[in-house]
Amino acid sequence: MSQVRTRFAPSPTGFIHLGNIRSALYPWAFARANQGVFILRIEDTDLERSSQAAVDVILEGMKWLGLDHDEGPYYQMQRMDRYKQVLAELLDQGLAYRCYMSSEELDALRERQMAAKLKPRYDGTWRPEPGKTLPPVPEGVKPVIRFRSPQGGSVVWDDKVKGRIEISEDELDDLVIARPDGTPTYNFCVVVDDIDMGITHVIRGDDHVNNTPRQIHIFRALGKEPPVYAHLPTVLNEQGEKMSKRHGAKPVTQYRDEGFLADAVVNYLARLGWSHGDDEIFSREQLVEWFDLDHLGKSAGQFDETKLRWVNSQHMKMCDDAVLAGLVAEQLARRGLEAPADERLAKMCALFKDRCSTTVELADWLAMYFTDVQPASEDLAKHVSDAVKPALQALAERFATAEWQRDAINQAIKDTIAQFGLKLPQLAIPLRVLVCGRAQTPSVDAVLELFARDMVQRRLRSF
Ligand code: GLU
Repeated sequence: MSQVRTRFAPSPTGFIHLGNIRSALYPWAFARANQGVFILRIEDTDLERSSQAAVDVILEGMKWLGLDHDEGPYYQMQRMDRYKQVLAELLDQGLAYRCYMSSEELDALRERQMAAKLKPRYDGTWRPEPGKTLPPVPEGVKPVIRFRSPQGGSVVWDDKVKGRIEISEDELDDLVIARPDGTPTYNFCVVVDDIDMGITHVIRGDDHVNNTPRQIHIFRALGKEPPVYAHLPTVLNEQGEKMSKRHGAKPVTQYRDEGFLADAVVNYLARLGWSHGDDEIFSREQLVEWFDLDHLGKSAGQFDETKLRWVNSQHMKMCDDAVLAGLVAEQLARRGLEAPADERLAKMCALFKDRCSTTVELADWLAMYFTDVQPASEDLAKHVSDAVKPALQALAERFATAEWQRDAINQAIKDTIAQFGLKLPQLAIPLRVLVCGRAQTPSVDAVLELFARDMVQRRLRSF
Protein backbone atom coordinates (compact mmCIF):
# COMPACT_ATOMS: atom_id res chain seq x y z
CA MET A 1 0.00 0.00 0.00
CA SER A 2 1.27 3.48 -0.78
CA GLN A 3 1.71 5.90 2.07
CA VAL A 4 -1.51 6.63 3.90
CA ARG A 5 -2.62 10.25 3.57
CA THR A 6 -5.73 11.38 5.41
CA ARG A 7 -7.31 14.73 6.02
CA PHE A 8 -9.71 16.59 8.23
CA ALA A 9 -11.63 19.16 6.22
CA PRO A 10 -13.85 21.19 8.52
CA SER A 11 -15.99 24.09 7.40
CA PRO A 12 -15.35 26.90 9.88
CA THR A 13 -19.00 27.77 10.37
CA GLY A 14 -19.85 27.87 14.04
CA PHE A 15 -17.56 26.48 16.70
CA ILE A 16 -16.44 22.87 16.58
CA HIS A 17 -18.06 20.43 19.02
CA LEU A 18 -17.14 16.90 20.06
CA GLY A 19 -19.25 15.32 17.33
CA ASN A 20 -17.37 17.23 14.62
CA ILE A 21 -13.93 16.76 16.05
CA ARG A 22 -14.35 13.00 16.07
CA SER A 23 -14.02 13.37 12.28
CA ALA A 24 -10.54 14.75 12.95
CA LEU A 25 -9.58 12.09 15.47
CA TYR A 26 -10.21 9.09 13.21
CA PRO A 27 -8.20 10.22 10.16
CA TRP A 28 -5.47 11.42 12.54
CA ALA A 29 -5.36 8.06 14.34
CA PHE A 30 -5.43 6.17 11.05
CA ALA A 31 -2.54 8.21 9.68
CA ARG A 32 -0.54 7.75 12.87
CA ALA A 33 -1.32 4.02 13.00
CA ASN A 34 0.10 3.64 9.49
CA GLN A 35 3.03 6.06 9.63
CA GLY A 36 1.02 8.19 7.27
CA VAL A 37 0.42 11.88 6.79
CA PHE A 38 -2.46 13.83 8.30
CA ILE A 39 -3.55 17.01 6.56
CA LEU A 40 -5.72 19.85 7.78
CA ARG A 41 -7.81 21.64 5.21
CA ILE A 42 -10.15 24.47 6.04
CA GLU A 43 -13.18 24.54 3.75
CA ASP A 44 -13.94 28.21 4.00
CA THR A 45 -15.68 28.91 0.70
CA ASP A 46 -18.99 29.75 2.36
CA LEU A 47 -17.94 33.32 2.96
CA GLU A 48 -21.10 34.34 4.75
CA ARG A 49 -20.97 31.59 7.34
CA SER A 50 -17.21 31.10 7.75
CA SER A 51 -15.27 33.01 10.37
CA GLN A 52 -11.75 33.30 11.67
CA ALA A 53 -13.09 32.77 15.19
CA ALA A 54 -14.39 29.35 14.12
CA VAL A 55 -11.02 28.52 12.53
CA ASP A 56 -9.32 29.47 15.79
CA VAL A 57 -11.52 27.12 17.81
CA ILE A 58 -10.74 24.29 15.37
CA LEU A 59 -7.00 24.92 15.67
CA GLU A 60 -7.16 25.33 19.43
CA GLY A 61 -9.33 22.26 19.91
CA MET A 62 -7.06 20.08 17.76
CA LYS A 63 -3.99 21.37 19.51
CA TRP A 64 -5.49 20.68 22.90
CA LEU A 65 -6.43 17.13 21.90
CA GLY A 66 -2.98 16.55 20.41
CA LEU A 67 -4.31 15.97 16.88
CA ASP A 68 -1.25 17.40 15.20
CA HIS A 69 -1.28 17.78 11.44
CA ASP A 70 1.68 17.24 9.14
CA GLU A 71 0.50 19.48 6.31
CA GLY A 72 -1.70 22.54 6.18
CA PRO A 73 -3.80 24.18 7.23
CA TYR A 74 -4.70 24.70 3.60
CA TYR A 75 -7.49 27.16 3.00
CA GLN A 76 -9.79 26.60 0.04
CA MET A 77 -10.19 30.33 -0.49
CA GLN A 78 -6.49 30.46 -1.25
CA ARG A 79 -6.81 27.78 -3.91
CA MET A 80 -9.35 29.45 -6.18
CA ASP A 81 -6.91 29.83 -9.07
CA ARG A 82 -6.19 26.14 -8.97
CA TYR A 83 -9.90 25.22 -9.09
CA LYS A 84 -10.46 27.58 -12.00
CA GLN A 85 -7.56 26.02 -13.86
CA VAL A 86 -9.09 22.56 -13.44
CA LEU A 87 -12.51 23.88 -14.50
CA ALA A 88 -10.94 25.19 -17.70
CA GLU A 89 -9.33 21.79 -18.34
CA LEU A 90 -12.66 20.00 -17.92
CA LEU A 91 -14.34 22.45 -20.30
CA ASP A 92 -11.57 21.98 -22.84
CA GLN A 93 -11.90 18.23 -22.72
CA GLY A 94 -15.69 18.33 -23.06
CA LEU A 95 -16.09 16.83 -19.58
CA ALA A 96 -17.97 19.91 -18.43
CA TYR A 97 -20.11 22.43 -20.28
CA ARG A 98 -21.70 25.83 -19.95
CA CYS A 99 -25.37 25.89 -19.15
CA TYR A 100 -27.36 29.06 -19.83
CA MET A 101 -30.61 28.02 -18.27
CA SER A 102 -31.81 30.94 -16.19
CA SER A 103 -33.01 30.43 -12.65
CA GLU A 104 -36.59 31.23 -13.80
CA GLU A 105 -36.37 28.48 -16.39
CA LEU A 106 -34.95 26.10 -13.81
CA ASP A 107 -37.78 26.91 -11.42
CA ALA A 108 -40.36 26.34 -14.14
CA LEU A 109 -38.71 23.02 -15.03
CA ARG A 110 -38.76 21.96 -11.42
CA GLU A 111 -42.45 22.83 -11.08
CA ARG A 112 -43.35 20.85 -14.18
CA GLN A 113 -41.44 17.85 -12.86
CA MET A 114 -43.03 18.07 -9.45
CA ALA A 115 -46.49 18.34 -10.98
CA ALA A 116 -45.72 15.18 -12.97
CA LYS A 117 -44.55 13.56 -9.71
CA LEU A 118 -40.99 13.29 -11.03
CA LYS A 119 -37.83 13.90 -9.06
CA PRO A 120 -36.65 17.45 -9.88
CA ARG A 121 -33.46 17.28 -11.90
CA TYR A 122 -31.68 19.21 -14.59
CA ASP A 123 -32.94 17.99 -17.97
CA GLY A 124 -29.70 18.26 -19.94
CA THR A 125 -30.87 21.08 -22.24
CA TRP A 126 -27.30 22.41 -22.61
CA ARG A 127 -25.51 19.10 -22.42
CA PRO A 128 -23.60 18.55 -25.64
CA GLU A 129 -24.26 15.22 -27.36
CA PRO A 130 -23.03 14.00 -30.68
CA GLY A 131 -25.46 15.18 -33.38
CA LYS A 132 -27.41 17.40 -30.99
CA THR A 133 -27.94 21.10 -31.76
CA LEU A 134 -27.76 23.24 -28.69
CA PRO A 135 -30.10 26.20 -28.25
CA PRO A 136 -28.76 29.62 -29.25
CA VAL A 137 -26.79 31.23 -26.46
CA PRO A 138 -29.07 33.82 -24.85
CA GLU A 139 -27.81 37.33 -24.31
CA GLY A 140 -27.18 38.63 -20.85
CA VAL A 141 -27.26 35.23 -19.10
CA LYS A 142 -24.10 34.28 -17.29
CA PRO A 143 -23.72 30.51 -17.57
CA VAL A 144 -23.00 28.04 -14.84
CA ILE A 145 -20.60 25.21 -15.57
CA ARG A 146 -22.05 21.73 -15.26
CA PHE A 147 -20.21 18.48 -14.95
CA ARG A 148 -21.07 16.06 -17.73
CA SER A 149 -22.07 13.16 -15.57
CA PRO A 150 -21.65 9.65 -16.98
CA GLN A 151 -24.97 7.96 -17.70
CA GLY A 152 -26.39 4.51 -17.99
CA GLY A 153 -24.33 2.71 -15.39
CA SER A 154 -23.90 2.95 -11.68
CA VAL A 155 -21.35 4.21 -9.19
CA VAL A 156 -20.14 1.67 -6.68
CA TRP A 157 -17.81 1.87 -3.73
CA ASP A 158 -16.94 -0.32 -0.78
CA ASP A 159 -17.43 1.94 2.17
CA LYS A 160 -15.34 0.89 5.17
CA VAL A 161 -18.29 1.58 7.46
CA LYS A 162 -21.39 1.09 5.36
CA GLY A 163 -20.24 -1.70 3.10
CA ARG A 164 -20.94 -1.77 -0.63
CA ILE A 165 -22.93 1.19 -1.89
CA GLU A 166 -24.26 1.32 -5.41
CA ILE A 167 -26.01 4.35 -6.88
CA SER A 168 -27.58 4.33 -10.31
CA GLU A 169 -26.23 7.08 -12.54
CA ASP A 170 -29.83 7.85 -13.51
CA GLU A 171 -30.13 9.38 -10.04
CA LEU A 172 -27.41 11.91 -10.76
CA ASP A 173 -28.05 14.90 -12.96
CA ASP A 174 -25.32 17.18 -14.26
CA LEU A 175 -23.93 18.91 -11.22
CA VAL A 176 -23.18 22.63 -11.24
CA ILE A 177 -19.45 22.89 -10.60
CA ALA A 178 -19.09 26.66 -11.10
CA ARG A 179 -21.57 29.40 -10.35
CA PRO A 180 -22.43 32.22 -12.80
CA ASP A 181 -19.70 34.37 -11.22
CA GLY A 182 -17.18 31.63 -11.94
CA THR A 183 -16.67 30.45 -8.36
CA PRO A 184 -16.33 26.69 -8.06
CA THR A 185 -18.82 24.73 -5.96
CA TYR A 186 -18.27 22.53 -2.97
CA ASN A 187 -18.09 18.99 -4.38
CA PHE A 188 -15.73 20.08 -7.10
CA CYS A 189 -13.27 21.80 -4.74
CA VAL A 190 -13.23 18.77 -2.44
CA VAL A 191 -12.19 16.48 -5.27
CA VAL A 192 -9.53 18.80 -6.66
CA ASP A 193 -8.12 19.09 -3.14
CA ASP A 194 -8.28 15.39 -2.40
CA ILE A 195 -6.40 14.74 -5.64
CA ASP A 196 -3.81 17.50 -5.17
CA MET A 197 -3.24 16.48 -1.56
CA GLY A 198 -2.86 12.83 -2.52
CA ILE A 199 -5.55 11.68 -0.10
CA THR A 200 -5.73 7.88 0.11
CA HIS A 201 -8.49 7.54 2.71
CA VAL A 202 -11.43 9.88 3.18
CA ILE A 203 -12.82 9.40 6.68
CA ARG A 204 -15.71 11.77 7.30
CA GLY A 205 -19.27 12.13 8.54
CA ASP A 206 -21.97 10.18 6.79
CA ASP A 207 -23.79 13.37 5.88
CA HIS A 208 -21.45 13.25 2.88
CA VAL A 209 -22.56 9.85 1.57
CA ASN A 210 -24.84 11.55 -0.95
CA ASN A 211 -21.95 13.62 -2.29
CA THR A 212 -19.72 10.61 -2.76
CA PRO A 213 -21.02 9.27 -6.11
CA ARG A 214 -20.70 12.73 -7.59
CA GLN A 215 -17.22 13.11 -6.20
CA ILE A 216 -16.23 9.70 -7.57
CA HIS A 217 -17.42 10.80 -11.02
CA ILE A 218 -15.29 13.91 -10.83
CA PHE A 219 -12.27 11.89 -9.69
CA ARG A 220 -12.59 9.63 -12.71
CA ALA A 221 -13.15 12.54 -15.08
CA LEU A 222 -9.88 13.93 -13.79
CA GLY A 223 -8.19 10.63 -14.51
CA LYS A 224 -7.83 9.49 -10.90
CA GLU A 225 -9.18 6.59 -8.95
CA PRO A 226 -11.13 7.68 -5.90
CA PRO A 227 -9.72 7.11 -2.39
CA VAL A 228 -11.04 4.62 0.15
CA TYR A 229 -14.12 6.03 1.87
CA ALA A 230 -15.21 5.52 5.46
CA HIS A 231 -18.39 7.39 6.34
CA LEU A 232 -18.82 7.71 10.07
CA PRO A 233 -22.30 7.55 11.58
CA THR A 234 -23.57 10.70 13.23
CA VAL A 235 -22.95 11.51 16.87
CA LEU A 236 -26.21 12.02 18.74
CA ASN A 237 -26.61 14.12 21.85
CA GLU A 238 -28.07 12.80 25.08
CA GLN A 239 -31.57 13.51 23.84
CA GLY A 240 -30.96 11.42 20.73
CA GLU A 241 -30.82 14.37 18.33
CA LYS A 242 -27.95 15.01 15.98
CA MET A 243 -25.29 16.76 18.02
CA SER A 244 -25.25 20.42 17.10
CA LYS A 245 -24.76 23.84 18.55
CA ARG A 246 -28.47 24.46 18.15
CA HIS A 247 -29.12 21.42 20.32
CA GLY A 248 -26.84 22.64 23.07
CA ALA A 249 -23.48 21.08 22.09
CA LYS A 250 -20.50 22.76 23.74
CA PRO A 251 -17.35 23.87 21.93
CA VAL A 252 -14.54 21.33 22.26
CA THR A 253 -12.38 23.72 24.25
CA GLN A 254 -15.06 24.02 26.91
CA TYR A 255 -14.29 20.45 27.97
CA ARG A 256 -10.72 21.53 28.62
CA ASP A 257 -12.03 24.42 30.72
CA GLU A 258 -14.35 22.07 32.59
CA GLY A 259 -11.40 19.96 33.65
CA PHE A 260 -11.35 17.08 31.18
CA LEU A 261 -8.02 15.60 30.12
CA ALA A 262 -7.19 15.58 26.44
CA ASP A 263 -6.26 11.88 26.55
CA ALA A 264 -9.58 11.04 28.17
CA VAL A 265 -11.57 12.93 25.58
CA VAL A 266 -9.55 11.25 22.82
CA ASN A 267 -10.23 7.86 24.44
CA TYR A 268 -13.93 8.62 24.83
CA LEU A 269 -14.37 9.87 21.25
CA ALA A 270 -12.41 6.96 19.87
CA ARG A 271 -14.82 4.53 21.57
CA LEU A 272 -17.81 6.46 20.28
CA GLY A 273 -17.71 4.76 16.89
CA TRP A 274 -14.80 2.35 17.00
CA SER A 275 -13.79 -0.56 19.19
CA HIS A 276 -10.84 -2.67 20.13
CA GLY A 277 -12.43 -5.72 21.74
CA ASP A 278 -13.98 -4.75 25.04
CA ASP A 279 -11.35 -2.16 25.88
CA GLU A 280 -12.92 0.96 27.33
CA ILE A 281 -9.87 2.70 28.76
CA PHE A 282 -6.79 3.10 26.65
CA SER A 283 -3.96 5.51 26.21
CA ARG A 284 -3.22 7.61 23.18
CA GLU A 285 -0.32 5.28 22.38
CA GLN A 286 -2.58 2.24 22.47
CA LEU A 287 -5.12 3.97 20.26
CA VAL A 288 -2.45 4.73 17.69
CA GLU A 289 -1.22 1.17 17.86
CA TRP A 290 -4.67 -0.35 17.46
CA PHE A 291 -6.68 2.00 15.30
CA ASP A 292 -7.99 0.56 12.04
CA LEU A 293 -10.94 1.04 9.72
CA ASP A 294 -12.22 -2.51 10.18
CA HIS A 295 -13.77 -1.94 13.58
CA LEU A 296 -15.74 1.22 12.99
CA GLY A 297 -19.27 1.09 14.39
CA LYS A 298 -22.19 1.10 12.02
CA SER A 299 -24.76 2.75 14.24
CA ALA A 300 -24.86 6.30 15.52
CA GLY A 301 -22.87 6.94 18.69
CA GLN A 302 -24.73 8.64 21.50
CA PHE A 303 -22.87 11.12 23.62
CA ASP A 304 -23.06 10.39 27.32
CA GLU A 305 -21.47 12.90 29.66
CA THR A 306 -21.66 10.55 32.62
CA LYS A 307 -19.54 8.06 30.74
CA LEU A 308 -17.14 10.77 29.63
CA ARG A 309 -16.71 11.74 33.30
CA TRP A 310 -16.03 8.14 34.21
CA VAL A 311 -13.44 7.81 31.43
CA ASN A 312 -11.92 11.05 32.63
CA SER A 313 -11.72 9.82 36.21
CA GLN A 314 -9.87 6.71 35.00
CA HIS A 315 -7.39 8.87 33.10
CA MET A 316 -6.95 11.11 36.14
CA LYS A 317 -5.84 8.04 38.08
CA MET A 318 -3.41 7.08 35.31
CA CYS A 319 -2.12 10.58 34.77
CA ASP A 320 1.36 11.50 35.91
CA ASP A 321 1.07 13.65 39.04
CA ALA A 322 3.39 16.34 37.72
CA VAL A 323 1.25 16.66 34.58
CA LEU A 324 -1.88 16.81 36.69
CA ALA A 325 -0.26 19.49 38.84
CA GLY A 326 0.22 21.68 35.76
CA LEU A 327 -3.44 21.30 34.82
CA VAL A 328 -4.70 21.91 38.34
CA ALA A 329 -2.48 24.98 38.66
CA GLU A 330 -4.31 26.38 35.61
CA GLN A 331 -7.67 25.65 37.20
CA LEU A 332 -6.58 27.30 40.45
CA ALA A 333 -5.26 30.30 38.53
CA ARG A 334 -8.71 30.76 36.99
CA ARG A 335 -9.96 31.24 40.55
CA GLY A 336 -7.23 33.75 41.28
CA LEU A 337 -5.29 31.23 43.37
CA GLU A 338 -1.61 31.07 42.79
CA ALA A 339 -0.21 27.56 43.11
CA PRO A 340 3.15 26.76 41.60
CA ALA A 341 2.99 23.47 39.71
CA ASP A 342 5.73 22.03 41.91
CA GLU A 343 6.36 18.82 43.78
CA ARG A 344 4.05 19.80 46.61
CA LEU A 345 1.16 20.37 44.23
CA ALA A 346 1.95 17.04 42.56
CA LYS A 347 1.74 15.33 45.97
CA MET A 348 -1.61 16.97 46.61
CA CYS A 349 -2.81 15.68 43.24
CA ALA A 350 -1.64 12.17 44.11
CA LEU A 351 -3.54 12.29 47.38
CA PHE A 352 -6.86 13.52 46.00
CA LYS A 353 -7.07 12.48 42.36
CA ASP A 354 -8.75 9.15 43.04
CA ARG A 355 -11.86 10.86 44.31
CA CYS A 356 -12.19 13.34 41.44
CA SER A 357 -13.59 12.98 37.96
CA THR A 358 -12.22 16.27 36.59
CA THR A 359 -9.37 18.66 37.34
CA VAL A 360 -12.05 21.19 38.35
CA GLU A 361 -13.11 18.84 41.14
CA LEU A 362 -9.47 18.34 42.04
CA ALA A 363 -9.02 22.11 42.22
CA ASP A 364 -12.13 22.25 44.45
CA TRP A 365 -10.29 20.01 46.87
CA LEU A 366 -6.90 21.62 46.64
CA ALA A 367 -8.17 25.18 47.02
CA MET A 368 -8.10 24.67 50.82
CA TYR A 369 -4.32 24.68 50.65
CA PHE A 370 -4.22 28.07 49.04
CA THR A 371 -7.12 30.07 50.38
CA ASP A 372 -9.28 30.37 53.50
CA VAL A 373 -11.91 27.73 54.09
CA GLN A 374 -15.44 28.37 55.27
CA PRO A 375 -16.66 25.35 57.24
CA ALA A 376 -20.42 24.92 57.01
CA SER A 377 -22.18 26.08 60.17
CA GLU A 378 -23.91 22.67 60.49
CA ASP A 379 -20.51 20.96 60.47
CA LEU A 380 -19.21 23.36 63.09
CA ALA A 381 -22.26 22.85 65.27
CA LYS A 382 -22.21 19.11 64.86
CA HIS A 383 -18.51 18.34 65.14
CA VAL A 384 -16.69 21.21 66.85
CA SER A 385 -18.37 20.95 70.24
CA ASP A 386 -17.23 22.87 73.32
CA ALA A 387 -16.10 19.53 74.74
CA VAL A 388 -13.58 18.98 71.97
CA LYS A 389 -12.21 22.52 71.73
CA PRO A 390 -9.59 22.10 74.49
CA ALA A 391 -8.28 19.02 72.70
CA LEU A 392 -8.02 20.98 69.44
CA GLN A 393 -6.06 23.71 71.20
CA ALA A 394 -3.75 21.14 72.76
CA LEU A 395 -3.22 19.62 69.34
CA ALA A 396 -2.33 23.04 67.94
CA GLU A 397 0.28 23.31 70.68
CA ARG A 398 1.75 19.89 69.87
CA PHE A 399 1.88 20.80 66.20
CA ALA A 400 4.06 23.78 67.07
CA THR A 401 6.94 21.49 67.94
CA ALA A 402 6.19 18.32 65.95
CA GLU A 403 8.31 17.54 62.99
CA TRP A 404 6.08 18.49 60.05
CA GLN A 405 5.68 15.13 58.41
CA ARG A 406 3.03 12.51 58.31
CA ASP A 407 4.21 10.13 61.08
CA ALA A 408 4.90 12.90 63.57
CA ILE A 409 1.53 14.51 62.81
CA ASN A 410 -0.12 11.16 63.36
CA GLN A 411 1.72 10.76 66.67
CA ALA A 412 0.61 14.21 67.83
CA ILE A 413 -3.00 13.29 67.08
CA LYS A 414 -2.67 9.97 68.90
CA ASP A 415 -1.10 11.63 71.94
CA THR A 416 -3.90 14.18 72.05
CA ILE A 417 -6.71 11.64 71.91
CA ALA A 418 -5.00 9.64 74.62
CA GLN A 419 -4.65 12.74 76.78
CA PHE A 420 -8.33 13.68 76.41
CA GLY A 421 -9.77 10.16 76.37
CA LEU A 422 -11.28 10.57 72.89
CA LYS A 423 -11.80 8.20 70.01
CA LEU A 424 -9.96 9.05 66.79
CA PRO A 425 -12.99 10.38 64.86
CA GLN A 426 -13.92 12.64 67.79
CA LEU A 427 -10.75 14.58 67.12
CA ALA A 428 -10.05 13.85 63.45
CA ILE A 429 -13.43 15.06 62.20
CA PRO A 430 -13.39 18.49 63.90
CA LEU A 431 -9.77 18.77 62.83
CA ARG A 432 -10.84 18.24 59.23
CA VAL A 433 -13.76 20.62 59.52
CA LEU A 434 -11.59 23.43 60.83
CA VAL A 435 -8.56 22.94 58.61
CA CYS A 436 -10.10 21.60 55.42
CA GLY A 437 -13.63 22.95 55.69
CA ARG A 438 -14.99 19.44 55.18
CA ALA A 439 -15.82 16.56 57.49
CA GLN A 440 -14.41 13.91 55.17
CA THR A 441 -10.98 13.77 53.58
CA PRO A 442 -8.34 11.15 52.86
CA SER A 443 -6.18 10.12 55.82
CA VAL A 444 -5.89 13.26 57.91
CA ASP A 445 -2.16 13.05 58.63
CA ALA A 446 -1.41 12.78 54.91
CA VAL A 447 -3.68 15.74 54.20
CA LEU A 448 -2.17 17.91 56.94
CA GLU A 449 1.41 17.18 55.98
CA LEU A 450 0.91 19.09 52.75
CA PHE A 451 -0.30 22.24 54.54
CA ALA A 452 2.03 24.89 55.82
CA ARG A 453 2.20 24.27 59.56
CA ASP A 454 1.20 27.78 60.58
CA MET A 455 -1.90 27.65 58.38
CA VAL A 456 -3.07 24.55 60.27
CA GLN A 457 -2.41 26.14 63.62
CA ARG A 458 -4.16 29.34 62.66
CA ARG A 459 -7.26 27.46 61.53
CA LEU A 460 -7.30 25.37 64.72
CA ARG A 461 -7.19 28.48 66.85
CA SER A 462 -9.77 30.45 64.96
CA PHE A 463 -12.80 28.85 66.65
N1 GLU B 1 -16.28 20.50 4.99
C1 GLU B 1 -17.08 19.35 5.19
C2 GLU B 1 -17.76 19.44 6.53
O1 GLU B 1 -17.34 20.17 7.39
C3 GLU B 1 -16.27 18.06 5.15
C4 GLU B 1 -15.96 17.65 3.76
C5 GLU B 1 -15.27 16.33 3.66
O2 GLU B 1 -14.76 15.80 4.66
O3 GLU B 1 -15.21 15.83 2.54
O4 GLU B 1 -18.75 18.77 6.71
